[in-house]
Amino acid sequence: MSVAAFPPPRLVDPFGRPITYLRVSVTDRCDFRCVYCMSEDMHFLPKKDLLSLEELDRVCSAFVARGTRKIRITGGEPLVRRDIMKLFRSLSRHLASGALNELTLTTNGSQLALRAGAADCGVRRVNVSLDTLDPAKFRQVTRWGDLSKVLAGVDAAQAAGLKIKINAVALAGFNDDEFERLVEWAHGRAADITFIEVMPLGEIDGQRVDQYLPLSAVKTQLARRFTLEDVDETTGGPARYMRVAQSGGRVGFITPLTHNFCESCNRVRLTCTGTLFMCLGREDAADLRAPLRATCDDTALHAAIEAAVARKPKGHDFVIDRSTSLPAVARHMSVTGG
Ligand code: SAM
Ligand code: SF4
Repeated sequence: MSVAAFPPPRLVDPFGRPITYLRVSVTDRCDFRCVYCMSEDMHFLPKKDLLSLEELDRVCSAFVARGTRKIRITGGEPLVRRDIMKLFRSLSRHLASGALNELTLTTNGSQLALRAGAADCGVRRVNVSLDTLDPAKFRQVTRWGDLSKVLAGVDAAQAAGLKIKINAVALAGFNDDEFERLVEWAHGRAADITFIEVMPLGEIDGQRVDQYLPLSAVKTQLARRFTLEDVDETTGGPARYMRVAQSGGRVGFITPLTHNFCESCNRVRLTCTGTLFMCLGREDAADLRAPLRATCDDTALHAAIEAAVARKPKGHDFVIDRSTSLPAVARHMSVTGG
């Protein structure tokens, strides 16, 4: 597990973008089947293919040694992975040492009431995905999710001191009558909310084009009810934020289709099998599991990470229209980690 004694160089991609953010999908499994994310009948990876929690820690730590300042644990549904709190606990040593700025989590919230203890492992902020506040529609979009459990999870997380941000995918004909209500609800509980355009990732049972709604439509709708003010601050992520004058809360817009955010991309994504994707919207990937398992020395792992980052593409080119029926990439968001 040794790294050479000198500080290893920071990771910078061929376009001069420092790679400081690692997203880790710790499982491809999920207790929901959101209609824009998965098909109903999913085939998940055999458990033996997954990196162990110790191996995930080792890869994350190699990235931290190379300048990663933020790690987001995601999935699939990260909180359904057994013993996942162990990974939070072990990674929190990098927060304590100051090497890592932030350890965060994206979750569907279904298990959050049981896992609000993440706050004791250095997690400060959690993104909870919630596309509707109507229990029947929630069941429909997740195929069998229970809204009351998610709301209880949000309550428990906030009571434990976690800062919550809500993520909502804008879906044509589904939640386009609820955007104002979602903003009011989130801001009423001191949570920011970010809307996301649906992206063409993986085969689903329906047609993406029927789900797709440009966020310009969301903004127009919100502007009828609220005063939206530009905010200068950026979080370094893909969301562009506006402030709602009436509530003081923020609304983010993630628009990979209508405005791509690749020029400032600082992230790479690790799957639960140790495959590193340099871009959410491209097929190119690097296998980190083989060098990880070949030896307990990290030299080969570091070499594989460097070679991968040297191939990071400039950006993606997602398209959703009637002439493009295939997804931009075959894998689901739950594999690469949203
Ligand atoms: N299960 C967790 C959750 O739902 O928050 C974490 C993983 S999920 C893949 C992460 C985020 O990706 C969620 O906010 C989800 O709504 C979003 N997502 C999934 N598939 C998407 C797609 N095709 N286009 C846009 N967002 C998507
Ligand atoms: Fe599961 Fe998250 Fe995908 Fe929904 S969006 S199916 S909760 S991984």
